[in-house]
Amino acid sequence: MAERTWETIESGTPDPMPFMHPVMKKNYGKWVFHSHPKPGVLYHRAENGDEVWTVKAGTQRQMDHYTIRKLADIADQFADGFVRFTTRSNIEYMVADKNKVEPLIKTLTDNGFPIGGTANSVSMIAHTQGWLHCDIPASDASGATKALMDELYHEFTHCEMPNRVKLSTSCCEINCGGQADIAIIIQHTKPPKINHDLVANVCERPSVVARCPVAAIRPALVNGKPSLEVDEKKCICCGACFPPCPPMQINDPEHSKFAIWVGGKNANARAKPTFHKLVAAGIPNNPPRWPEVSQVVKKILNVYKDDAHSWERLSDWVERIGWPAFFEKTGLPFTKYHIDNWRGSRSSLNASTHIRF
Ligand code: SF4
Ligand code: SF4
Repeated sequence: MAERTWETIESGTPDPMPFMHPVMKKNYGKWVFHSHPKPGVLYHRAENGDEVWTVKAGTQRQMDHYTIRKLADIADQFADGFVRFTTRSNIEYMVADKNKVEPLIKTLTDNGFPIGGTANSVSMIAHTQGWLHCDIPASDASGATKALMDELYHEFTHCEMPNRVKLSTSCCEINCGGQADIAIIIQHTKPPKINHDLVANVCERPSVVARCPVAAIRPALVNGKPSLEVDEKKCICCGACFPPCPPMQINDPEHSKFAIWVGGKNANARAKPTFHKLVAAGIPNNPPRWPEVSQVVKKILNVYKDDAHSWERLSDWVERIGWPAFFEKTGLPFTKYHIDNWRGSRSSLNASTHIRF
């Protein structure tokens, strides 16, 4: 039987060992000390005295092959040809020779890749695919990310936040962007518009009916053709029916807005993991720079930076000051839409408003 290697496994996480810098592989599990000499640089020392510096740089994530080649050439020149990408699309170079650290930083900076994203900085935004790669987005999450990171450049390259700040953007409500200290998520505000001429040919109707989390979709006969209908009183405008049934169009240039959620975190360091909560809704989906989104995010970040104690994550800060103070300090309006009054909320009140299937 052929040996199973990372090349023969077509799903799941590949084995990282073949891609690891030789000094890291040699000292796997034997690191005794680490520090953070400056923003964007981490230092690790092993039991036997081996040392590794990790230099983290921001990228635009969706890259042409010229950029990839440039990053690869820099790896060949300084890091023995080894790199890794983080979940937030930062690129990390591992260097075993201290003398190469500063030249590597200079080369990356000269080529337009900022150094930062470590410790108590604002790291790159984990963003979803947007118009380039996904078939259901209502916006371009990657474009909104670029526009926002242009404005947060200083916070990426400096460690001036109370604790690390993780952001995410998502271009549909199904939200493959995940939890974040501040999450920017599309919010549909109108039920889907159905093209009844296409439903029978394009959609597998039972699976679309089953997909709706609030049982708002029913099979129906429209103009003599098998189709679907939506009970608009029940519909929560989640958009879950649109991927399996494109004739149920939910994206709308006016009624698909952006919403901002805060206080999510996956780590259990210092405090337990938390789900993010909605704080701003109805923000215009306004490409190509989404200025209204940037304005709200910067407002929250600035208040958090000024008001939180050292090492408080955004969720810890809100927990300490309370939600009324959060809205007071940020100046964001608290509206009836912040109250979860959905009749099925008994099972979601102490969890999240994420949609489950
Ligand atoms: S957030 Fe939604 S639209 Fe955007 S890439 Fe993920 S699944 Fe696609
Ligand atoms: S948008 Fe969501 S709630 Fe509304 S009909 Fe489609 S799946 Fe159901």
